[in-house]
Amino acid sequence: MKPRGVPVLLEGAKSRPQAILSHYRERIRTFNSRINAFITVLAEGEADRMPHAGGGILGGLPIAHKDIFVTRDVRTTCGSRMLADFVPPYDAAVVERLAHAGCTLLGKTNMDEFAMGSSNETSYFGPVRNPWDLERVPGGSSGGSAAAVAAGLAPVATGTDTGGSIRQPAALCGITGFKPTYGRVSRFGMIAFASSLDQAGILARSAEDVAWTLRAMAGHDPRDSTSVARPVPDYVEALGQGVRGRRIGVLENCFDTGLDPQVGERIRDALRVLERLGATLCDVRLPHLSLSVPAYYVLAPAECSSNLARYDGVRFGYRAPGARDLADLYRRSRSEGFGLEVQRRILTGTYVLSHGYYDAYYLKAQRVRRLIREDFLRAFKTVDILAGPTTPTPAFRLGEKTEDPLTMYLNDIYTIGVNLAGLPALSTPAGLVDGLPVGLQLIGGDFEEALILAAAHAFQGATEWHRLEPPGFEDSES
Ligand code: GLN
Repeated sequence: MKPRGVPVLLEGAKSRPQAILSHYRERIRTFNSRINAFITVLAEGEADRMPHAGGGILGGLPIAHKDIFVTRDVRTTCGSRMLADFVPPYDAAVVERLAHAGCTLLGKTNMDEFAMGSSNETSYFGPVRNPWDLERVPGGSSGGSAAAVAAGLAPVATGTDTGGSIRQPAALCGITGFKPTYGRVSRFGMIAFASSLDQAGILARSAEDVAWTLRAMAGHDPRDSTSVARPVPDYVEALGQGVRGRRIGVLENCFDTGLDPQVGERIRDALRVLERLGATLCDVRLPHLSLSVPAYYVLAPAECSSNLARYDGVRFGYRAPGARDLADLYRRSRSEGFGLEVQRRILTGTYVLSHGYYDAYYLKAQRVRRLIREDFLRAFKTVDILAGPTTPTPAFRLGEKTEDPLTMYLNDIYTIGVNLAGLPALSTPAGLVDGLPVGLQLIGGDFEEALILAAAHAFQGATEWHRLEPPGFEDSES
């Protein structure tokens, strides 16, 4: 069976849902050991506990969830030793909604620990490998979801994006990654990293597959106070709008420094395709965008230090054995349960929130965040879409950046501003550099997900990049 889009799979699932499920299960059995994309694979029958599988608008569609979404009775680790044995008693809103729509759960995908990372190397369960080159990273933190979709182990997977964790791995693995507007999708049951930035989204082969999934996933949820009560448009129907007449602002900031020149060329080519499809291009510069990485690495750790305070070895999660007293129990459980990157973030976050530093760092970063959002809003007064590269380089080698956190952080330089501003954005495959995928990022105004999906769909209708498959993952019978 060749890779098929969601509409074709849904058609097939009407008559033979079991065959479609078996196809993906078989591929996971054959290929997962090569890329380590899944932390937990559901056994035959286990997935059937999902309510309403087979009915609904996504009836019979197999799906993989990032292991940050809690799943009732299915271990949810968040890529951490802290939660290595945690079996949640309830489903996240995203899991629940997709199950109601008829999706069948294939398993839980590998990720950077607590979604902190850009390479999937901080996972307690070992790194994920990029299907395009097994010596390279898939990106992170939703690296397991990206690798699973790219290698054809799942047609669609969920992810979360706090600073780029959907778009960056999608770009490095040659698939489509979509981050909705903050508040569009419920965060209920999504293990918190930085609550004001975290947003659930989708990794899939095409914009069309994203639209089908997003339609079932989006919507208001009273259990998440930041979820927005606003009708969900028909994203699938809106795909036909195309990109003709749209004004696209090219984010010239992204072409300045640090961008691999070959990646830059692919992105310029991709922009010309959009122009041919009827869009008009202009140059845009956002004056404060260069401050997004420093602002993010104050705010995200601050929020994480607070969110992760709940893992104390007492109520749930890892508990260190043989503690002398309560303070020792906290210290040892947290030192042994959390990996080094998570500890680095907690320490940074605690520092920037502490008395005497709060104003200098945290408050200042909040002000910068506001300026960045205002830059974007100003730009959207004159353009419909902002475009640029998703990442500065194609996938880098495993171990290449682990020694130097700052170099690692810079990998998200083009994606983080979008989270600080709360906007929707996607990455679509836009070419290869030395055989490795490159992503084009399209950013929309608040709640303009339909508009950027339609633009990506038009782009994908005129190009073949999203159809490319990593070599070595063909079906054995073909
Ligand atoms: N790479 C960024 C970080 O480590 C973003 C992670 C994310 O989006 N979850 O914080």
